Amino acid sequence: MVIDGHTRTCGLIGNPVAHTLSPLIHNALAEKFSHNLVYVPFPVEKGQALTAVKGAYELNILGLNVTVPFKSEVLPGLVETDELAEQIGAVNTLVRTRGGFKGYNTDMPGLYRAMVSEGIALAGEEVILLGAGGAARAVAFLCAAKGASRVYLLNRSVEKANAVAEEVNEKSRKKLVFPMALSDYPELPDGKFLAIQATSVGLYPDTEHAVIEEEAFYRKIHTGYDLIYKPSETKFMKLVKEQRGKAYHGLKMLLYQGIIAYELWNEVKVSEETAQEVYELLKEKAGI
Ligand code: NAP
Repeated sequence: MVIDGHTRTCGLIGNPVAHTLSPLIHNALAEKFSHNLVYVPFPVEKGQALTAVKGAYELNILGLNVTVPFKSEVLPGLVETDELAEQIGAVNTLVRTRGGFKGYNTDMPGLYRAMVSEGIALAGEEVILLGAGGAARAVAFLCAAKGASRVYLLNRSVEKANAVAEEVNEKSRKKLVFPMALSDYPELPDGKFLAIQATSVGLYPDTEHAVIEEEAFYRKIHTGYDLIYKPSETKFMKLVKEQRGKAYHGLKMLLYQGIIAYELWNEVKVSEETAQEVYELLKEKAGI
């Protein structure tokens, strides 16, 4: 592309950011739409996220993605926060508006669009959600928003599971999330579940482990969705497949959270055909 006096800039703030695949997604989309736009990573020192957001606005930046550890830290620097992001208490996308940035959370709509594209339903589903960190918390809100019938939230630290369950149940005004300790999984009722793996166990380079490794647990799963995409087949996915379940990694979630951010920044709709083309590039880059 030709960078000239009209080129708009988007980017990612986080720490670290050097590993990011987001520039590939956004620069590929800019090329496909013939938008005069570049997307670059901005490493930001810890504690400086609010200064970075203010500076970005003054520099006429069109939009930002926000990653670890700033997803909640930037909130006071925004002029507005979208309702879902407000509930989750974390943003990953900032959109330039008059007077400042508006915050969104495209991680969860991204996961939802990825699940839909794989034919995985949430409405009416009984879900096992592994983890109670930032990602799991957002997945629990997604389950509430999309009509899951029940969510068993299993976490190593049961007090965190309790806190997430209480918050989601209160905000969604349903008794939907049932917290449990990981080790209590044998107490899950009989049946087949959709399991969403939202812990960091199994993430590269610690690829030899899954958060639960007993075969009996995996017999309860018809579909396993791992938020991790590196490696492309996690131990969790292998264990699901060994018990004849379907298993998916999180790269499509990454793709769609980026696509939704791009749509917000540029007021366009990315077709499924274009999404698939960008996904092929992403898979190649991720070595899948
Ligand atoms: P986080 O806030 O740090 O939470 C980590 C979770 O993993 C907690 O529930 C923690 O349990 C659990 N955990 C860590 N080590 C464990 C161990 N040895 N045994 C049992 N449980 C353990 O992280 P996060 O932001 O939620 O991210 C979670 C995962 O989702 C990461 O792997 C990340 O890469 C992935 N993710 C993917 C996407 C995507 O676009 N595909 C987007 C966001 C996140 P405790 O509470 O007991 O510590």
